[in-house]
Amino acid sequence: MNAPKPSSVTATIDFDKDGIQHGFLKLPYSRNESAWGTIMIPIACIRNGHGTTALLIGANHGDEYEGPIALQKLALTLSPDNIKGTVIIVPALNFPAFMAGTRISPIDYGNMNRVFPGRPDGTITEKIADYFQRFVLPKSDYILDIHAGGKTLDFIPFAAAHVLENKVQQAKCVAAMKAFNAPYSMMMLEIDNVGMLDTAAEEMGKVFVSTELGGGGSATRKSIAIAHTGIQNFLIHAGILSGKIKPHKTIQLDMPDKDCFITCISSGLFEPCFDLGERVSVDDVVGRVYDAERTGIQPVEYKSRMNGILTARHYPGLIKTGDCVSVLAVEVT
Ligand code: ZN
Repeated sequence: MNAPKPSSVTATIDFDKDGIQHGFLKLPYSRNESAWGTIMIPIACIRNGHGTTALLIGANHGDEYEGPIALQKLALTLSPDNIKGTVIIVPALNFPAFMAGTRISPIDYGNMNRVFPGRPDGTITEKIADYFQRFVLPKSDYILDIHAGGKTLDFIPFAAAHVLENKVQQAKCVAAMKAFNAPYSMMMLEIDNVGMLDTAAEEMGKVFVSTELGGGGSATRKSIAIAHTGIQNFLIHAGILSGKIKPHKTIQLDMPDKDCFITCISSGLFEPCFDLGERVSVDDVVGRVYDAERTGIQPVEYKSRMNGILTARHYPGLIKTGDCVSVLAVEVT
């Protein structure tokens, strides 16, 4: 059998060492501006003896900010004395994208959440994914990947789990999602789950929770607080952090089928007709798109195909064919 290919990523921290370590994942990247340059992905590891390991990830997409902010705060405040086991904190997984303020990497246009399991001899984004696939995910028991809508979408704040073939694993993921205790909890239907970190972690049998906590390419006091409390709850639920989770108040949502997604088939000026969290009925107009270049033309109307709650919406003022107009979800009672 061939030996596994080495990764060109090296960690400056020791994942098996007790205490707090702040360091980097170093990935060589030779380029015009830096001949023998290296991409330095920040990482913190807080460990107190054997036990459960939680991996907390932000900026899998570079323009989503609740994760990086809440994880920077956590890395400053979490003490090994208060935990049992290990917490690995990666505030910005797609670090080149994060530093550019863009969803995908400016180096190779890699979308981190579409390239898993990655490749050790691939692009920069694929090399980062490969390192997590082979060296970080396997040592993690509980994985939290904190997303938001980025510059082009805005979401109601929810934690999410997926329908899995392994129902024991699904129940564990759902329990961790509910423990996060966001205002909403979503059984999420992915529009395209190939290459996702979610899928990679779930295929390894891990307890995996994702989130969508806001959007628009920024964060708010409220959305940061939801991330902060959710992370604490997630760590308590995993048995790593001591403390109590406040009683559940999360509203359970489901995405039953592809009717949840409304895709734009015109381009122009976007008028949202519902706000996030509002109830929408079948045939309600959720958005209109006007011809941006002339007056006197009726807008194209986008109607809901289901009864539900407006869960996500296109964020910028202009919209194009193929953009996501809105996403609806159904409240589970
Ligand atoms: Zn994202």
